[in-house]
Amino acid sequence: MTTFAQRAAAILPGGVNSPVRAWNGVGGEPVPIASAKGAHVTDADGREYVDLIGSWGPAILGHAHPTVVQAVQEAAARGLSFGATTVREVELAEEIRGRYAPAERVRLVSTGTEATMTAIRLARGATGRSKIVKFAGLYHGHSDSLLVAAGSGLATSGVPDSAGVTRGAAADTIVVPYGDEEALTDAFAEHGPSIAAVITEAAPANMGTITPPLGFNRLIGTLCRNEGAVFIVDEVLTGFRAGPAGYWGVERDADIAAGVDPWQPDLVTFGKVIGGGMPVAALGGRADLMEQLAPLGPVYQAGTLSGNPVAVAAGLATMRLLTDDVYARLSRTADALAGGVSEALGDAGIRHAVGRAGTLFSVFLGLSEPPVTFEHAAAQDTAAFARMFHALNGAGVQLPPSAFETWFVSHAHGDAEVAQVVDAVRAWAASEA
Ligand code: PLP
Repeated sequence: MTTFAQRAAAILPGGVNSPVRAWNGVGGEPVPIASAKGAHVTDADGREYVDLIGSWGPAILGHAHPTVVQAVQEAAARGLSFGATTVREVELAEEIRGRYAPAERVRLVSTGTEATMTAIRLARGATGRSKIVKFAGLYHGHSDSLLVAAGSGLATSGVPDSAGVTRGAAADTIVVPYGDEEALTDAFAEHGPSIAAVITEAAPANMGTITPPLGFNRLIGTLCRNEGAVFIVDEVLTGFRAGPAGYWGVERDADIAAGVDPWQPDLVTFGKVIGGGMPVAALGGRADLMEQLAPLGPVYQAGTLSGNPVAVAAGLATMRLLTDDVYARLSRTADALAGGVSEALGDAGIRHAVGRAGTLFSVFLGLSEPPVTFEHAAAQDTAAFARMFHALNGAGVQLPPSAFETWFVSHAHGDAEVAQVVDAVRAWAASEA
């Protein structure tokens, strides 16, 4: 009999429409998901799981929140797409700026990839320079110049990380190890006048969750300002999830508490949460830079479905529900889950480290310290993770199918879900001992 995974693989390359959904990192065959509600997803065989994927970030309120669903239904009934500006697009952009002051102007797009791609083009257009600096192991979507990964200790000129990306497209990307102040400073010393931008995740969350070393974001901002380069902060994953003003807000609040002036991105990208599960992403930033975008300026960017009214309805309803209470609960849940999982692993003598960034966290098996660089994150025990993944799956818990992902909690996750996950980890850990 043909399994679903075999049927899917016969038509969709790898059986998926986005590679992270495949179980290549853990082995085995995924069962299709049929529905989701609150903290749970249900597969096509009717099995329910506590969900720690959360649509890879957007489902911050839990799945199918009634207010969001109603907003989408009402918007759909008014028309799916007009190709003209709507009131709600303006309201969503205002909502973003109201929470994240450096986003003085906002352009809505449909995916995080479009947002970061546009940010790079805008930085190049505004500075007239070609080179960009990115950090090894950080993900910014799949546009050509950003599909360039690792260099080792020293800053290296990029080589493509994907077939189909030309050496030319990668040659202008300089890759630096994350958190390495010396390598970053050296990159500026060597290439400064030709650097258009540095792009970083506000807190890296695509090689597991990484806490940015104290002062690293500030250093990037200072080097960019001194050299006339654009400081691009990618908050597609962390935005309005790591905290009420993304990870920028987490560091801003800490700076203010310490009596230090907060650092500011020149451009910032959002996605995931701002669409509430629908395709909405955004580029924001300094007004003088953003006004270089078409139709005001010479940097072209466009989209038939940008600011789509149904998608925007989901995003706006989600953002308006994100109160301080929601973040306080998310934070408590992340603490309880990360702490409970760590204790269960520790009790069984399983070496591990927990990476944290605001309400985001992930677990690195086999490491004794939370990593900062990709090299360190890659030294985790991925085989042990695969065993834990399958044990948890059997116990009704859906983990991301890769050791390099964040564990996403939502406002709908409560004590019962935390207990179920911690018990499942404890049972697996005992079986490993
Ligand atoms: N930037 C970051 C930090 C991301 O995590 C992602 C996706 O996971 C992207 C950009 C790309 O967003 P999208 O998948 O919507 O194109």
